[in-house]
Amino acid sequence: MGLSVLIMKKQNLTVDLNDRSYEIIIASGGVKTNQSFFSSFVQNKKCFIISDSNVFPLYGEQVIANLKQSNGIISGHFVFPAGESSKTLSTVEKIYHETLKCELDRSSVIIALGGGVVGDIAGFVAATYMRGIDFIQIPTSLLAMVDSSVGGKTGVDMPEGKNLIGAFWQPKLVVIDPDTLHTLTMREIKGGLAEVVKYGVILDSSFFDELAGGIQKINILDSEFYSKIIATCCGLKAEVVKQDEKETGLRGILNYGHTFAHAIETVSGYESYIHGEAVSIGMLMAGELACLMNMMKRSELDKLISLCRKLDLCIKADGLDTNAVFEAMSKDKKVKDGNVCFVLPKQIGKVSIISDADKGLVLEAIKKYNF
Ligand code: NAD
Repeated sequence: MGLSVLIMKKQNLTVDLNDRSYEIIIASGGVKTNQSFFSSFVQNKKCFIISDSNVFPLYGEQVIANLKQSNGIISGHFVFPAGESSKTLSTVEKIYHETLKCELDRSSVIIALGGGVVGDIAGFVAATYMRGIDFIQIPTSLLAMVDSSVGGKTGVDMPEGKNLIGAFWQPKLVVIDPDTLHTLTMREIKGGLAEVVKYGVILDSSFFDELAGGIQKINILDSEFYSKIIATCCGLKAEVVKQDEKETGLRGILNYGHTFAHAIETVSGYESYIHGEAVSIGMLMAGELACLMNMMKRSELDKLISLCRKLDLCIKADGLDTNAVFEAMSKDKKVKDGNVCFVLPKQIGKVSIISDADKGLVLEAIKKYNF
């Protein structure tokens, strides 16, 4: 692995949301060393860490030491079994009991230490505990660094579908330490790369080209290249969120590939595919649908397929029930007036949202990447 510790290489970005604005700090070594990022947010406040069974043993002690040096008062922590199956109201309720036992009050701070599952759960707890308290995101998976830790979407899954219960609740600070990617599995890195590729397709063709030209650096986990990728993705997401925080329009483009992906995850019981794998399959299904609807040239889709192959991303589902995938889509949050909304590419770097796709074409697009 080529991820070296580059302490103090630091980039700051701002998510500009008026009185809810916050900083994203990208700093290699930021979790290990006390660089007082946290001070003004945790000083003399009760801090409660929410993490999972993989991440807490790796970074919990370092974060606790860091918070203590910033004069935070460590009240307790809650560690749940890693994985999407923990993203439920039942986990949230267990956390409420613990935060009440630790006497967290309205001035306390929740610290989310982990991947997207931790961030979504911890953010939801922060949004709802005593009608809302502060929280800080410390994302440790690539997917969480480039996507889920920024933008304030929090929530949990229901047996009926993903992320159906939730709240918009912005963090006060996001601290990203790319060195934590050191301990992430290659499978999870690739899952995160699916979301990275997504930004290129929906918003930035030159970023897409940069990724295509940087395969080697990506594959050897070049630290500087990853810091750059993370900063670009966070910057793109921050701009979208600034323009449309509550997803009334533009923010919907971030769901590219996700209508198919959420259905794949639901039908496969959240077990066979990690989120990023479902996203890469979903991006190709959406690309195929765009071609079938004559919205995009095949040559553009070929560029996407080629990049996904070079990055060794998951590009097909293993024979799921196509009709069940279609049915699961109709329960998606992105259904409007009975029509499923799709984010479809017109070319690399440009997408549009449509709600009038023909069912036959949608089924054909699913089948193409599901056999
Ligand atoms: P995850 O949180 O389950 O993390 C993936 C796995 O990696 C877990 O087993 C975790 O324990 C482990 N892990 C994380 N960081 C690690 C590290 N540094 N070292 C070793 N192991 C580590 O999943 P994810 O892919 O990070 O996130 C997926 C979740 O994010 C989904 O629930 C999805 O719905 C959600 N999501 C939310 C948003 C949003 O805007 N809120 C956006 C995209 C995705």
